[in-house]
Parts: sequence; C-alpha cells; structure tokens
Amino acid sequence: MSADIGLIGLAVMGQNLILNMADHGFTVCAYNRTVSKVDHFLANEAKGKSIIGAHSIQDLVSKLKRPRKVMLLVKAGNPVDWIIEELLPFLEKGDIIIDGGNSHFPDTNRRYEDLTKKGILFVGSGVSGGEDGARLGPSLMPGGAPEAWKEIKDIFQSISAKADGEPCCDWVGPAGAGHYVKMVHNGIEYGDMQLICEAYDIMKRVGGFTDKEIGDVFSNWNSGVLDSFLIEITRDILKFNDVDGKPLVEKIMDKAGQKGTGKWTAINALDLGMPVTLIGEAVFSRCLSALKDDRVRASKVLAGPTIPKDLIKDKKQFVDDLEQALYASKIISYCQGFMLIREAAKTYGWELNFPSIALMWRGGCIIRSVFLGEITKAYRSNPDLENLLFDDFFNNAVSKAQSGWRKTIALTTTYGIPTPAFATALAFYDGYRSERLPANLLQAQRDYFGAHTFRVLPECASDNLPLGQDI
Ligand code: NAP
Repeated sequence: MSADIGLIGLAVMGQNLILNMADHGFTVCAYNRTVSKVDHFLANEAKGKSIIGAHSIQDLVSKLKRPRKVMLLVKAGNPVDWIIEELLPFLEKGDIIIDGGNSHFPDTNRRYEDLTKKGILFVGSGVSGGEDGARLGPSLMPGGAPEAWKEIKDIFQSISAKADGEPCCDWVGPAGAGHYVKMVHNGIEYGDMQLICEAYDIMKRVGGFTDKEIGDVFSNWNSGVLDSFLIEITRDILKFNDVDGKPLVEKIMDKAGQKGTGKWTAINALDLGMPVTLIGEAVFSRCLSALKDDRVRASKVLAGPTIPKDLIKDKKQFVDDLEQALYASKIISYCQGFMLIREAAKTYGWELNFPSIALMWRGGCIIRSVFLGEITKAYRSNPDLENLLFDDFFNNAVSKAQSGWRKTIALTTTYGIPTPAFATALAFYDGYRSERLPANLLQAQRDYFGAHTFRVLPECASDNLPLGQDI
C-alpha cells in the first residue's frame, strides 16, 4: 500500500495528527527516530486504521505516492535540520517537506531558501490546538512554496477545525509566513491569558470575590462578546476544587513559565518598530512573576495603598465595567497583532491573506473565539484595512467600552493592583488617537545633546527654521 503522506515524529502531536488524517480517509506512513515507537503505535492506537509504518527514512520515502509529502512533527530546532538532511538523498525535485513544529520563522525562511535551490517544496506550517486540536481538528497555518499548496490542500483542509463550516486552514503566504503567523498567534495567546489573569486578580483583590463567584462571572462572560476557549477553561479552572474542597488554583505557585514564542513576537515587534505593547507586557509580566523571592521580600517592605473591605458597593456595575475593560483591551491586542503582521508583510515582501488569517484562528486553536468572526468580517469587507480600529464595528465597540475600561484602570491604580496589560492597552489607544504627542520635546532633547536635528511642522517652517528631514 502506498501512503498519501508520511509523518515523522510519534510524540503527542504527530500521533494525533496521523489518527486525524486516517479518520478523514488518508493513508499515512508513520516513522519515528526511536523505531520501537512505530511498532507500538501500529499495534495499539493505529490498529485497524489506514496507517502503515516505516523502520527507516528510506523505507518511509519508498512507501509514499508522488509527489512525496513528508510532514515533520519533531522537537523544534536542530532536529528539524537533521531530519531534512537525512531525507534529502531519497527525495526528488517537486517532493514536499512540511515542518509542522513550532519553528522560529527565520529558521523556516532559511530552510525554504536552501530547499528551494534543491527543487524541494518546503512548507512551514503553524499547528495550534495542542493534543486535542491535533486529534479532532487543529488550526493550521501553512506557508512556504506556493506550488505545494494544491498538493496538500485537501489533506490540510479536511483535518483542520471548521468554523461556521469553513476550514480553519488556508494558505498564509511565502517562505516563513506560516510560522510567522503562528508566532504572532502565540503572542496574542500570551496577551489574552494575561488579560484574563488580571481580571481574576481584580475581582479577587478589589472586589473580594471568591473563586466560585469569579468562575460564575467567567461563565456569564462566555455567553457574551468574550465567548472564547480561554474564558471557558478559566471558568472550569476556577470551579475546580482539590480533594479538601478548596480551589486548586489557589494552591498553584504564582511563577509563570514560558517557552519563547511570546518573547519572539515581542522581539520581532521591536525589530520592526511596531508598538505591540500588550504582548510585550504579557511577556514581562511572566518575567516579574518568576521573581517570587524578590516579590515576597518586597511585599514586606514596600508601601502601597490599603484596599478597604467592602470597597465595591455595586458589584454588578463593577463586573460590567471589568467586562468592558477586558473586551476593549483584547480588541487593542488583536489590533496590535494585525499591525505587526501587516508590517512584516511589507518588510519581508509577503503577500498575506488577512481575512483568512483571522478565520484560521476562529476555531481549533487556543485563541479561538466568537470575536475572531468579527475580525474576519472586518477584513473581508476591506482586505486593505490599515487598522482594526478603523473598522466601524471595532471603533464602536471600543468607544462603548471606554467608560468601564477607564473606571477599572482608575480603580486598580488607586488601590495598587498591577494591571499592566489593561493599562498598556489604554495607553496605546490614547496614544494612537492623539494627533499630537510630546515627541516634539523628545526630538528637541535629542538635538540638544546629540545634534540629531529635527523636522519642523510644515506650517512653522521658515527661512530661519527650514523644514528638515526625517531622521
Ligand atoms: P516534542 O516533545 O516536541 O518532540 C518529540 C519528538 O521529536 C519525538 O518524536 C522525538 O523522537 C523527536 N525528536 C527529538 N529529537 C530528535 C532528533 N534529534 N532526531 C529525530 N527526532 C527527534 O513533540 P510534540 O509535543 O509532539 O511536538 C512536536 C512539535 O509540535 C514541536 O515542534 C512542538 O513545539 C510543536 N507543537 C506542540 C504542541 C503541543 O501541544 N505539544 C502544540 C503545537 C505545536 P524520539 O521519540 O526518538 O525521541
């Protein structure tokens, strides 16, 4: 039997993606460096399905239909390069290699260039949704050699999640564009998680709510504009009690980990000069949380305001304001994420399909939400939309949410509750809508100490004060 596709890497993602492909009628050939895992998989999870195995890379390649399609789901980094090297002697021009791991997009750009020279069609595909997504329908973000798309489209769109009947998978763009969009997706995920954590902290420390009450609030929010996977799981987490009946979440050490995709997004935003402040704050918040020992010490010596008991008299209004603050901040975060993707498209010369990007995130992935449907609509009605805030839906939504957003941040600032993501979102909004910012003074300072010169406002230019040039 020859297979429609070969898949290398039988850890959690690879195994589940193979089972998903088999469920959709494709024959898959499985291979793994530790070959015993192939036999174990064939004898157990894959039993009775259209899945065959290989005991070497050569064996795998020999069992594939032409043009051969080989997908890698192995540890990101050097292993991807090593496997590509092992594959090359057995492949022919026009064969396709797909890297479905969390590779950094500059690596994908490099592999794309190297393999293009060798006549191999290389695809770097974001795969989101974790284990369940891989098994039941992930969000897939493929990019790379465009000629590969017609060959893999059927498999990819069949196995992906569907939102309103449409596959959460489409061609993203050339070279490393697929992995780039996945990176920004992960950065946005950092932002969404941080915003939710801040909302929980505000309810707990300012509102004096119990975890059960906070869970109820998230439950209500999940049937409104914030309806999303992350709100849903937060509701469940807050309602989950340990064996002693106490909320498990309160027993978890408040030190956040990170694997780097949020940091990559923030670094890339700095490289491209884009104010993606919310993701940046989300990454820094994880860094601050990791300084647990310092924080414990500082909590005993650094002064701050005292939060009066029963501070919140009108709990309904407090929760409504908080919902607006969360909604508006989330809009800003997505607006910043799309600004970054837009700038990357310009800088790297990629033609990207914006409505499809929003649709790919609509289902299957960690940031899936109803709200992404609105972003898809906004880009479908105007694919050249410069900024989501110029779309009527989002402009009106932020405008309506402003009062609650500002009240919430005033409250947390007054009572010393850290809300970096909420606050930076509002600062961005106010900066973005300011016709004039104090950068005139900054330019004067730069010129004063460094003779950097400055530009003059056109209406103020004169013989003794020439217009000058951007520097
Ligand atoms: P993983 O733990 O990242 O990697 C394990 C797999 O990589 C095993 O098949 C392992 O083979 C193989 N491997 C490691 N080093 C190798 C080498 N030097 N040569 C050949 N094979 C090597 O697996 P995963 O969690 O399933 O993730 C796969 C990819 O998807 C990663 O890039 C990951 O970041 C990405 N991803 C994961 C998730 C998730 O929820 N787990 C979600 C989205 C994306 P052996 O069995 O021989 O060790």
